[in-house]
Amino acid sequence: MDFSALKSNFKGEVFTDNIHRIIYATDASAYREMPLAVCVPMDNEDIRAVICFAHDNGLSIIPRASGTSIAGQVVGNGIVVDVSKNFGKVLELNEEGKWIRIQPCVVLDELNKYLAPHNLFFGPETSTSNRCMISGMVGNNSCGSHSLIYGSTRDHLLEVNAYCQMVRMLLLENYRARNSMQNANFSRLRATYTAISAVCFRKRRWLMK
Ligand SMILES: Cc1cc2nc3c(=O)[nH]c(=O)nc-3n(C[C@H](O)[C@H](O)[C@H](O)COP(=O)(O)OP(=O)(O)OC[C@H]3O[C@@H](n4cnc5c(N)ncnc54)[C@H](O)[C@@H]3O)c2cc1C
Repeated sequence: MDFSALKSNFKGEVFTDNIHRIIYATDASAYREMPLAVCVPMDNEDIRAVICFAHDNGLSIIPRASGTSIAGQVVGNGIVVDVSKNFGKVLELNEEGKWIRIQPCVVLDELNKYLAPHNLFFGPETSTSNRCMISGMVGNNSCGSHSLIYGSTRDHLLEVNAYCQMVRMLLLENYRARNSMQNANFSRLRATYTAISAVCFRKRRWLMK
């Protein structure tokens, strides 16, 4: 497969060598599958470019955050898109509205460290919290052992900015989350991403009850 067309417009990295393909052939699961290539996008335009390239060439893409999934979610035979490196910023915190807008690859523990001085935290307590990233939590609808109290990731998701294979930037609103939060007067979270993902938090005061 010739990746030169993709490489010529790509600001990030595109790897087709065996070492990278072998490294990305596994995740935390028992599965192993060699991808054709591995991309590390630098920005939204890179993500758009790799989706276009995959679409034009009939290839699949495998978005990858921390790779801690245990059912083979981030292995595949197409192009692995490693978003973990360049999409880790908090974009906006609205304390009054109780929502936060972030890039997809903020690590869960880092998000909660950021929120702690504001007396807030993100409820779902996935046990891989020191490395799992928000977009991976959205992809898996992750939760933790107190999910009956804190809910799972989708319960907190307000919005996702995502590219789909039609290569249009979409804003997906989670009506279920929005409505339940309005009804319960929960804190809200607004998430904006380059590929797919989201986050949210609630009042610590409420969670302590
Ligand atoms: C020891 C261990 C304990 C675990 N405990 C829990 C637990 O308590 N609760 C729980 O729910 N899970 C648990 N997991 C599973 C896993 O750690 C979590 O689901 C975690 O949230 C996944 O995050 P990640 O960043 O590793 O995502 P990844 O594994 O990288 O990706 C997860 C999914 O999201 C998709 N994705 C990631 N980023 C994007 C993006 N930008 N755009 C589009 N799609 C994207 C991927 O394609 C994949 O389908 C555990 C795993 C292990 C190994």
